[in-house]
Amino acid sequence: MKKKIGFIGLGNMGMPMAKNLIEAGYHLQVYNRTTSKTEELDATSITICRTPAEAADGVKILISMLSEDEVLKEAVTGEEGILKTFPAGAVHISMSTIAPDTAEELCKLHKISDNTYVASPVFGRPDAAAARKLFICISGDPDAKEIAKPILEFLGQRIVDFGEKVSGANVVKVAGNFMIITSMEMMAEAYTLAEKNGLDRAQVADFFGTTLFNVPIFQNYGKLIATKQFEPVGFKTKLGFKDTRLTLKIAQASLTPMPTAMLVHNRLQSAVAKGWGESDWVEGVSRGVSEDAGV
Ligand code: NAD
Repeated sequence: MKKKIGFIGLGNMGMPMAKNLIEAGYHLQVYNRTTSKTEELDATSITICRTPAEAADGVKILISMLSEDEVLKEAVTGEEGILKTFPAGAVHISMSTIAPDTAEELCKLHKISDNTYVASPVFGRPDAAAARKLFICISGDPDAKEIAKPILEFLGQRIVDFGEKVSGANVVKVAGNFMIITSMEMMAEAYTLAEKNGLDRAQVADFFGTTLFNVPIFQNYGKLIATKQFEPVGFKTKLGFKDTRLTLKIAQASLTPMPTAMLVHNRLQSAVAKGWGESDWVEGVSRGVSEDAGV
């Protein structure tokens, strides 16, 4: 018989991850707010659940990939939440990008219920998720991490352990997204500067991406920004905005001055205010920089 896993959240990231787990031979007890999304999954490999509590019922492992803190908290602690049914000894692998204090709070609540919460946020867009190329950061209880790792190996190319404090991986994730978004702002400004001075943005991006800035973020995001390719939507601007809020929240709590974080926060705040929240964050940044420059 196939091994059962609870799975919550079939968004841009959760969907390809769920497909990979099914391909790896797991049976998913799956919950998504919009049930029709489950139609994309092999019907013989899933049990469709009406609530997070149903998805968590009787499983040893549950994965969640929800949008943000409040949504995850409701899925865990709500009237029909995970903790209503999650068995003793079970492990919740929480893969959303959320605040470290949310991770600590949910970890405590799981402990009270005799089960475990592990933080496993990821780097990589939906195409990387589909190709099992995610970089996965993990932190929390050592035994639970050992249970989680073999499953995470079906989802990512590398799993890096950031220790026993459950929120450690969340801090790494937020710090990483801060570096990505500031790199995006920098590239958008540089390529717009080139454009306004009569140069081909794509050629300039290709030059830097293959020489001085020969790394994935400058190659992949560099190309999207230079060519103003905003489709398909892989990561929504409103979620990027959420991540800049998380950066500022952690920075304030730990007395860490981050002037650049404020700048990119304003960039995405402005993008959401203009109605681009559902657009890819490449558009949120790149279009904003172009408009400021009148191009
Ligand atoms: P998404 O918006 O595509 O999907 C969000 C999921 O949350 C969906 O399943 C949706 O049904 C659910 N959801 C949202 N609001 C809800 C509510 N009020 N009640 C119940 N369910 C609700 O987001 P995504 O791009 O899949 O991202 C998921 C998480 O992964 C986020 O925390 C994001 O920051 C992080 N992340 C995304 C990417 C990316 O490239 N998309 C990469 C790394 C990490």
